[in-house]
Amino acid sequence: MENCIFCKIVKGVIPASVAYSDDRVMAFLDIQPINPGHTLIIPKAHDALLSELDEETGAHMFVVAMRVAAALRRSGLRCEGINLVLSDGEVAFQEIPHVHLHVIPRFRGDGFRIKFGRDYGSRPNNKELNEVASKIREVMH
Ligand code: ZN
Repeated sequence: MENCIFCKIVKGVIPASVAYSDDRVMAFLDIQPINPGHTLIIPKAHDALLSELDEETGAHMFVVAMRVAAALRRSGLRCEGINLVLSDGEVAFQEIPHVHLHVIPRFRGDGFRIKFGRDYGSRPNNKELNEVASKIREVMH
């Protein structure tokens, strides 16, 4: 994609601080990190949404995220825990329309917050949960 900033990073048109790269995926540092070491894992091919990504590449992205997470814990950077975050779609706060998985090192008192939504705290009963599970199951393949 011509105007995609992540595609430009893949092509080397825009520089990035690369932590890992292979034929399918790339890991580089977020330029506006939540904490030092905040890394993004992207597919090298342009896929805007998770639904466009092939499963093999998605699985590989997760494997690389696990390796980056393990490396962060050994790196000497402040890292007492890790969040993996993938925002899929604008309403889910996806800012760059090229799939990316955040690997965010965390430490106590870092101030990062995930605010839960309006319906959080409701406790649907088993029947309601089973109905929702069934809606998912019926269209899954
Ligand atoms: Zn792209």
